[in-house]
Amino acid sequence: MIPSVLPTYSRAPLAFVKGEGAWMIEADGRRFLDLGAGIAVNVLGHAHPALVRALTTQAQAIWHTSNLYQIPNQQRLADLLVQNSFADTVFFTNSGTEACELAVKMARKHFFDKGQPERVEIITFSGSFHGRSSAGIAAAGSEKMTRGFGPLLPGFVHLEWGDHDAIEPAITDRTAAILVEPVQGEGGIRPLPDQCLKGLRDLCDRHGILLILDEVQCGVGRTGKLFAHEWAGIEPDIMMVAKGIGGGFPLGCVLATEDAASGMTAGTHGSTYGGNPLGCAVGCAVMEIVADPAFLAEVNRKAGLFRQKLEGLVAAHPGIFEEVRGSGLMLGLKCKVTNADVVTAGYAQQVITVPAADNVIRILPPLSITDDEIAEAVRRLDAAASSLEAA
Ligand SMILES: *Cc1c(COP(=O)(O)O)cnc(C)c1O
Repeated sequence: MIPSVLPTYSRAPLAFVKGEGAWMIEADGRRFLDLGAGIAVNVLGHAHPALVRALTTQAQAIWHTSNLYQIPNQQRLADLLVQNSFADTVFFTNSGTEACELAVKMARKHFFDKGQPERVEIITFSGSFHGRSSAGIAAAGSEKMTRGFGPLLPGFVHLEWGDHDAIEPAITDRTAAILVEPVQGEGGIRPLPDQCLKGLRDLCDRHGILLILDEVQCGVGRTGKLFAHEWAGIEPDIMMVAKGIGGGFPLGCVLATEDAASGMTAGTHGSTYGGNPLGCAVGCAVMEIVADPAFLAEVNRKAGLFRQKLEGLVAAHPGIFEEVRGSGLMLGLKCKVTNADVVTAGYAQQVITVPAADNVIRILPPLSITDDEIAEAVRRLDAAASSLEAA
């Protein structure tokens, strides 16, 4: 008999009833150190006082009004994002995949309104993940995500990640945009080197096409800059953000330049819940903390510490781990044994990690994790690796 919850997830036998900072607690009181942060979502950990305050204060005022009316928190969050990024304008969604939908629509509308309606194609890369909507799965294009769900949304050109030489020949007079994650998350924590991101920007400029960055996982302080592309010193035309921006409340957005967004006039797009007062109250509180240069400096310092300790872990367990990869506190351990076994061995040591493609386990802690917790995390991962060696 089919379970009452549609069985699309293979879940771990863990259930958390409470969270405190970097810790998640089961009903029996067992405490787990959270290096997953709900898949890069809880950037300030669990139950951060400023976020709890923002949400509960708003909950007592008004929950939902719709986008038929002005939403002061939404305006404030848009202003914060515009002040702190390349963007001139922001549209709010409830998730990353909805941000992908709009990014694709916006790029196509941009060229339609410029009198180039044939420019509909978007170039994407293997190993990418852009969400589970029809546009999201068509964009990523993997067999795993698309099989059985056809006919797929047309207009995506899939290239091999890392095959630089294939990109320019793939650009034609039908191309609207290149869509890429500065650091692939689901694909196995694969950072695009700064040089490559610069190269993509140049290519887009030379061919008059748009650069769309998917920073749903790598954005909002995760790499030690507010947005990951800042490391390369370039700016996109359109950017998808979600996960971290809501700190645990469902919230996403699309940031764009005035030129890229020029086709999105009144009535061309919308959302019932997107940018609702609750989500935007939390989003403002997240931005006020994470966009602070002092906070980002701390992320970078802690990332250096964590990475150094993980290098030691890999050296101590050469039969279990191959390498450390990633950027900032978006880290991955490439495994030599099956990554799912390492994640499971971690559960026994009460440390949470998240598997990814390419046999990687992801380490995406709250950005607020402390030095002591980093040391404890590595001790627990060390114990998990030792338990696998003993098995
Ligand atoms: C998680 C993710 C998405 C999809 O976001 P949802 O909120 O799950 O819809 C899109 N792109 C990237 C890079 C992601 O990591």
